[in-house]
Amino acid sequence: MKITSIRMMRLWGPRNHGVGGGTAKIARVVVRVDTDSGIYGLGECDDFMGVRQGIAYLDEYFRGRDPFSINAIVSEMLYGTQAPNPAGAPRGPMGKNNINAVSMCSPTATPWGPVVWAASGVEIALCDLLGKALKTPAYNLLGGKFRDHARVYLDRSSPDDITDLGAWEKMAAETVASGFTQMKFDIDFMATECVQDVWNRSLSLRQINRIVERLTVVRQATGPDFEICVDCHMQYNIPDAIRVAQALAPLQLLWLEDPTPITNPDSCAQVRAKSPVPICIGEMFIAEQFRLFVDAGACDVLHPDVMFCGGMHELRRIADFAELNHLPVAFHGNGGALATIAAAHVGVASRNFLGLEYHFIETPWIGGFVRRDVPLFRDGQVVMTDAPGLGVELDREVCRQHLAPGESLFD
Ligand SMILES: [Mg+2]
Repeated sequence: MKITSIRMMRLWGPRNHGVGGGTAKIARVVVRVDTDSGIYGLGECDDFMGVRQGIAYLDEYFRGRDPFSINAIVSEMLYGTQAPNPAGAPRGPMGKNNINAVSMCSPTATPWGPVVWAASGVEIALCDLLGKALKTPAYNLLGGKFRDHARVYLDRSSPDDITDLGAWEKMAAETVASGFTQMKFDIDFMATECVQDVWNRSLSLRQINRIVERLTVVRQATGPDFEICVDCHMQYNIPDAIRVAQALAPLQLLWLEDPTPITNPDSCAQVRAKSPVPICIGEMFIAEQFRLFVDAGACDVLHPDVMFCGGMHELRRIADFAELNHLPVAFHGNGGALATIAAAHVGVASRNFLGLEYHFIETPWIGGFVRRDVPLFRDGQVVMTDAPGLGVELDREVCRQHLAPGESLFD
């Protein structure tokens, strides 16, 4: 079997609620890998800077290769190979865009940023394809499942009116009533009326007090057994991150996420040393970055994303690394239906899996552009099926309604 094309389709539509409340626009990039056997696979990328260019490059670079060589293909994308390079690796000008393939760095040798984001979507599609070819669910490609469903945690960010304590209570009560057992809020959006300087990475006592007040309402609404997490989005300086962590201690949070900028494991380790709340990090990390943070004693929960770490096999590799260090892994989830299902396959196949994030419960089309035999969520979980590959097909009508300008449906 040979890869005949790697295509993409950009979907576009409203995003209700989301980070900071309100309505915005959002795009998803669906990837399709076709083969000469007629079997194809589907994947998903985030619509970040450079991703679509990366997929176009990979289309021209990997045509003609064996789609079963998933790890070799991803490794070649991210780290290159030695001369004389794999058979079939192009060199020089390629395809209609006349892109120059540099043989010694085939094709990019840059394991972060747009390269790994594009590679992740292609890898997800290759796993779907391989599962279909072997007539087995993708979780069986990873050694089989430990459990029949993957727990999901909802990112609720904040209500539209953050000063309305009733809105916080309502949001919490709705989440509990809908069957979920864990949710997350965004500290940096919880008390924005108290922010005096958007640049200086500080949290005032007034801001911390409003955050504690609003999360206390949430805790009272959920009851004591519900898991609550908070995300700092890499925004704060060390002392203020410690101060907010200590202020939140009575609420029994599951984790405090990305308290300081993620370029430096030392600062995160300093926060962790004084934080009564476990520290979760890594939504944009590749495997080697997790090693740096674990070695520095900078985290309690590893938090990779299938769309940003290199795909399903890399996600499993990070989960195994966490397990070797007796740490749990939770999966950051900024994706739509396809990425969520892909991460769920890895979650059920990972011993130390805590849960999988989902952002878009208020925006049905993002969770509805693929169809499967069962609903996307049931009782706050993704229920796994025996369907081959990822077990999904595109909902062509939902896709048609949300095609970005200039895009067309896969034939
Ligand atoms: Mg986060």
